[in-house]
Amino acid sequence: MKGEGREMARQEDLFGYRKPRVRRGHIAHMVDVGDHGCIYAAGNSCVALFTCKRCGWTSDWLERRNKTHVLQGVPCEACNKPKKEAA
Ligand SMILES: [Zn+2]
Repeated sequence: MKGEGREMARQEDLFGYRKPRVRRGHIAHMVDVGDHGCIYAAGNSCVALFTCKRCGWTSDWLERRNKTHVLQGVPCEACNKPKKEAA
């Protein structure tokens, strides 16, 4: 019985109806990544710069845990403002 539930979930995935990670809204993607040569906050190992292709917003250099984490991007602060978007 448990197996049936999993089978269903897997089929839904195949259709690609939902991509959980995209829920956060507009994502700014990494444009540069490096090492600032200083001491990182616990758990971080690199720094990266992110830019939103939609509005051009650019982040500060943000410490990230690792490059996989960097590739996930960060939510664009401008596009994800609670206020109405000033388009
Ligand atoms: Zn944006």
